[in-house]
Amino acid sequence: MKIRPWSLAALERFSKEGGTEILRFQPWESVPGLCQGVTVRPSREEPELTYRRLSAGMQGEGFGVIRRLKQVHGARVMIAGKDTPGSIPTGDGLVSSEIGVLGLVTIADCVPVFIFDPVSACWGLLHAGRRGVAAAVIKEGLRVIKETLKVDLKRVEIYLGPSICPCCYEVGPEVARLLAKVSQGGVVTRNGGRRYADLRHLLAFQATSCGVPHENIFTSAYCTSCHNELFYSFRAESQHALGRMWAFMGRRE
Ligand SMILES: [Zn+2]
Repeated sequence: MKIRPWSLAALERFSKEGGTEILRFQPWESVPGLCQGVTVRPSREEPELTYRRLSAGMQGEGFGVIRRLKQVHGARVMIAGKDTPGSIPTGDGLVSSEIGVLGLVTIADCVPVFIFDPVSACWGLLHAGRRGVAAAVIKEGLRVIKETLKVDLKRVEIYLGPSICPCCYEVGPEVARLLAKVSQGGVVTRNGGRRYADLRHLLAFQATSCGVPHENIFTSAYCTSCHNELFYSFRAESQHALGRMWAFMGRRE
């Protein structure tokens, strides 16, 4: 299966939201109230500081409820609503049908998966690295959207945001074997037998297997490692580096 080529920069736009520099998926800008993006690295900054600035800014701009997760590279997807408790649940995905709720996940090489249904305006936001792909977090997110929020997956649009590209993401034989089980095309062997994984290809493959039309899936033109001046990369930098981006999605009041 082929996914859309890496030439969609025209569909992404740098902008500002909640007092923070972000990259957003342009086609959704015309949807009333829909707010979505990934923070761009401002400087070396504690992710918690970025979170506080962004969430405080968004609270003043139509979001009464902010939801985040204790991420564990798993497949647990939570419903984000006004009635869910204020604690931080463990999980790697949020879905919502409510206005005024903003969901956030943190990323640095892992894929921020944005899901949107233009008819019901339900949305989903997932964090998917290699372990999330192997655990099929996107399938679980789509299942919750379909079964709990009653969304027809044929209508759903997906934007796979900035994350590590297959040229930069070398994996060991075990990870390669695990990911090749998802889709053979998601792992490429080159450079004398070295293996490289394409997380966004794998996610697109999983989404289409759930019934999301291929033409509704868009891939960011940005790699967090190739474009390390714009984004934090777990691989390109020290793995102990502080930097992380925040991906966020919601519909404002
Ligand atoms: Zn790259």
